[in-house]
Amino acid sequence: MADPAECTIKVMCRFRPLNSSEVTRGDKYIPKFQGEDSVVIGGKPYVFDRVFQSNTSQEQVYTACAQQIVKDVLGGYNGTIFAYGQTSSGKTHTMEVSYFEIYLDKIRDLLDVSKTNLSVHEDKNRVPYVKGCTERFVSSPEEVMDTIDEGKSNRHVAVTNMNEHSSRSHSIFLINVKQENTQTEQKLSGKLYLVDLAGSEKVSKTGAEGAVLDEAKNINKSLSSLGNVISALAEGSAYVPYRDSKMTRILQDSLGGNCRTTIVICCSPSSYNEAESKSTLMFGQRAK
Ligand code: ADP
Ligand code: MG
Repeated sequence: MADPAECTIKVMCRFRPLNSSEVTRGDKYIPKFQGEDSVVIGGKPYVFDRVFQSNTSQEQVYTACAQQIVKDVLGGYNGTIFAYGQTSSGKTHTMEVSYFEIYLDKIRDLLDVSKTNLSVHEDKNRVPYVKGCTERFVSSPEEVMDTIDEGKSNRHVAVTNMNEHSSRSHSIFLINVKQENTQTEQKLSGKLYLVDLAGSEKVSKTGAEGAVLDEAKNINKSLSSLGNVISALAEGSAYVPYRDSKMTRILQDSLGGNCRTTIVICCSPSSYNEAESKSTLMFGQRAK
């Protein structure tokens, strides 16, 4: 286990393979990998804790990105795993799972669609939580997966002209682990947040207007608040701007302090998406 007093932020980067429409368009495969931790795009190297090439298996990604956090959560720590990247870069694919969602800064319960605007409260220890959010008791991996599927079917999707149904909301899945040793009566609790972020692409590329433009601005704002919080944590600065967005406020006790955070930066390898991939990689570099 990592040093308990240390706040660890790991930044991993994953490139998916070219997809069929990229191949059909004649896009080039642009990343050049160097060793296990570096990728070169447009002549510039980007270094992370790990870089996964397009042929990396789900299991290899899980082992490197999630296994230690899951162990630490079982040991009583809090942790968060984020997937960041433009639409169709492989975020949802990487999370395997994919609850509540934050859409236009409103929190919607994905396990009870009648709850559309939940609020953030603080408990007696001043730890923020989403008031009234549905909690399910699960005791097997199958029950976790069933719960995830139920939430997934309720996610908010709108069609953009990126040729894909892109997810325009952040989805947050919280696993609360409570354990009690019946002999020693010792109690342990840990939280694991799995955060599948909204697409990070620039507004112009998606040709958004009106309500979709408002939505895009809101997404950009909440992603930049997240970037600010993570870079403040990475720099060890005294002030961390958690209160700038609902997402960072909710995640506060699983991001700072002695928490485990992993960000998986997801990229398309296509020459067509070079500008987006560079800005995605820059977001990841800020967290280092
Ligand atoms: P996002 O959530 O970032 O919008 P998705 O995870 O939905 O993107 O991925 C878009 C498509 O690409 C999906 O059909 C997914 O199965 C496929 N894909 C993503 N990453 C990989 C990968 N590493 N290997 C193979 N297919 C992938
Ligand atoms: Mg997705």
